[in-house]
Amino acid sequence: MGGPGVRLERVGGGAVSSTSGGVGGEGSGSRRRHDPAFEALLANNREWVREQLEYDPHYFRKLAEKQKPWLLFIGCSDSRMNVNHMLGTRPGEVFIHRNIANQAFSDDPNFQAVLEFALQHLHVRHVVVAGHTRCGGTRAALAGMEGGAVGAWLTPLKELAARHREELAAIPGDLERQNRLAEVNVQVQVANILQSPPYRGALGAGDAPELHGWILDLASGLIREMELPEMG
Ligand SMILES: [Zn+2]
Repeated sequence: MGGPGVRLERVGGGAVSSTSGGVGGEGSGSRRRHDPAFEALLANNREWVREQLEYDPHYFRKLAEKQKPWLLFIGCSDSRMNVNHMLGTRPGEVFIHRNIANQAFSDDPNFQAVLEFALQHLHVRHVVVAGHTRCGGTRAALAGMEGGAVGAWLTPLKELAARHREELAAIPGDLERQNRLAEVNVQVQVANILQSPPYRGALGAGDAPELHGWILDLASGLIREMELPEMG
């Protein structure tokens, strides 16, 4: 077993045969690439900590004690949707769930656990589903993307596009069609939450949060509130 020179990259006792390229003699440094953006992250983190402490010496001690978020935010994974920045909220205020094209399925255990926890334990006062313009998810769904995990994940969005085929076909312009699908998607996901057991339970207990549907316009940074399906 190993000896003092065991490295993480080595599998077992060296029984891996040389069936693929790059074998032998590369050592543990072979996976490291020079990436200044990544290498700056921990220094950035220390700088951020320094700034916070300058502003409030007890900031992290208070933050670490507990979280009391009042908003559940369900957004797209898109890197341009910067939740706390765009809303002016601070750590501890927003409980966040994100996935490609901000979907809120009843059969997604990840999302259902987030929703249940947010409603039953955190008792958030508001739930927001936020889509955005120029969403790669809606673009891929409209293009009928197949295959892989992404293709599977987008299946409900492709079905939604098919259900709205006529309306979408009447819209001139790919981007406008994508953006319209993003709007319809937000409305559908809010409706999914309305039907979900955690929301129904909260409603029965007189503790239901307010639901909201938003579209973030990436080109302006502004958020627009959507008309929602009939509540209750
Ligand atoms: Zn997106």
